[in-house]
Amino acid sequence: MMGELDVIVVGAGFAGLYALHKLRGLGLAVHAFEAADDVGGVWHWNRYPGARCDVESLQYSYSFDDALQQEWVWSERYAQQNEILAYLHHVADRFELRPLISFGERVTSTHFDAAADRWHVTTDRGDVAIARFCIMASGSLSASRLPDIPGIETFSGTILHTATWPHDGVDFAGKSVAVIGTGSSGVQAIPQIARSAEKLVVLQRTPNFVVPARNQPLAAEKQAAWKAAYADYRAQARQVGTLYDFSQTSAHAVSAEAREAEYRRRWELGGVNFVHAFNDIMTDRAANQTAADFVHARIRELVDDPETAEKLCPRGYPLGAKRICVGSDYYETFNRPNVTLIDLQATPVVAIEAQAIRTTEAVFAVDVIVCATGYDALTGALTQIDIRGRSGVALSDKWADGPRNYLGLMTADFPNMFIVTGPGSPSVLVNMIVGIEQHIDWIADCIQHLAYTGATRIEPEISAEDVWVEQVNDAAAATLFVQANSWYLGANIPGKPRVFLPFVGGIGRYRAICDEVAASGYAGFRIVNGD
Ligand code: FAD
Ligand code: NAP
Repeated sequence: MMGELDVIVVGAGFAGLYALHKLRGLGLAVHAFEAADDVGGVWHWNRYPGARCDVESLQYSYSFDDALQQEWVWSERYAQQNEILAYLHHVADRFELRPLISFGERVTSTHFDAAADRWHVTTDRGDVAIARFCIMASGSLSASRLPDIPGIETFSGTILHTATWPHDGVDFAGKSVAVIGTGSSGVQAIPQIARSAEKLVVLQRTPNFVVPARNQPLAAEKQAAWKAAYADYRAQARQVGTLYDFSQTSAHAVSAEAREAEYRRRWELGGVNFVHAFNDIMTDRAANQTAADFVHARIRELVDDPETAEKLCPRGYPLGAKRICVGSDYYETFNRPNVTLIDLQATPVVAIEAQAIRTTEAVFAVDVIVCATGYDALTGALTQIDIRGRSGVALSDKWADGPRNYLGLMTADFPNMFIVTGPGSPSVLVNMIVGIEQHIDWIADCIQHLAYTGATRIEPEISAEDVWVEQVNDAAAATLFVQANSWYLGANIPGKPRVFLPFVGGIGRYRAICDEVAASGYAGFRIVNGD
């Protein structure tokens, strides 16, 4: 058992690494447990072909250290997985964080000892660590999920999930491959796999809206100009997440020609910026439909076979209400002779067999199945741990009907436990590095505040938690986000309560609320002083 600590951090991705750096800088004894054998989080695990960020690299990076952001050179508009992982390795080495991390150790339980105000953290190796504070930096998209298809365990070929990709790669040459899932991961992997596999069958349950990435090498001049103005750009990002070109105009306020021209302009520029073409795309269904119609028209243009094009056109939910996907040659891939698209809504999968996938209409012999089937998002990594608070109640029981917390940061009955970019915070709806830095900075200030005041314990008042949960729900209800069966709502996990998980009110507003709470002496929190 290691000596008593001030803070235990669970996870060593973007969030865990920054937490270690920040808190050690405050003179705190801090240690992290990481299930993987190295740092990086999703960028360690997601090594599938085509994996890359879809927030531009110059923005999808830490802002806390100016020398780091000036010296690190990004090679592409959207960095590939291996480049982002190299960056995180560099961060771990540069700030000497590795000695603070136990690798290959999964936290299985964290129990609060109310008599001593201490968290007891146990790992799958049987190690126990004790600390005053626990920071759950375990990831919003880290609890991956295989599809619940009958017979999956009988498959005799290779079965892979995009989030647990073999580190030495996969050779698809000469192979018949099936990809299940057409979310962001599938959309990135499918064109790459199609290039090397002999045959590729794409099993699509729900088509997604895919905008082109227009990825390209990052011009030296652009990088230099960006770095010269980094302080300003980062300050803006703290208010909006990612610096998109946010329109202040309704889609209804312009002519059909002007609307089309604006969509076309953004389509040519590439990226998520497309969704911000008009300010009511995520609040007005008719406005949203104009964007959806534009994408449908592009799909019909890009895909040669009209029947395939229609299958690829998303319908029945608003554009952006499921996370918009950013792809490279995604729609064009369905023109390849070795690629077949199967619409699972028309012909559902019945079973996976030893060497094949059977739908209601056909049997596809395959050597490899790639599951791009996503995550138990935002809550999964937390509820997989046996977390027990002051009264011994498990977090998974407290959250059985949906997550309840205050500001997304803490939950009543679980004192001194902070959650990074979890439910109730902007989380996955914004550039997550901006959200991570905001959370870690707030947590660090809070821990310092407790130290200055001699307090031993902080947790939310139930009343503040109730109000916040309502605020999160109200913010979502005012948007079109609630009109799709998305992982934002837990709809991808059978039995998961249908609750909109992230806070949709924007990171600027959210930051202001968190700052006000801190400035007011942590209104809504119960702080216990001394013995
Ligand atoms: P993670 O990176 O998920 O790290 C959490 C770590 O905790 C993992 O290493 C995990 O092994 C560890 N862990 C979990 N549970 C335990 C446990 N019980 N014990 C020990 N260790 C544990 N966001 C964007 O803003 N822009 C993007 O372009 C973008 N692209 C993405 C692409 C992919 C393929 C994926 C999957 C996500 C992407 N995201 C993106 C979201 C991404 O989750 C965040 O950007 C960010 O990487 C999250 O960092 P994190 O440290 O919070 O979590
Ligand atoms: P996802 O968006 O949840 O997509 C999972 C896909 O699998 C969906 O198409 C889903 O269909 C399908 N699926 C799940 N279970 C199935 C089943 N039993 N049978 C058939 N199909 C099934 O997961 P993801 O693609 O891994 O992406 C998750 C999030 O990670 C993204 O939204 C994004 O935030 C992040 N990410 C970002 C990038 C990037 O571009 N930077 C890349 C990857 C991931 P339904 O829609 O019908 O449920």
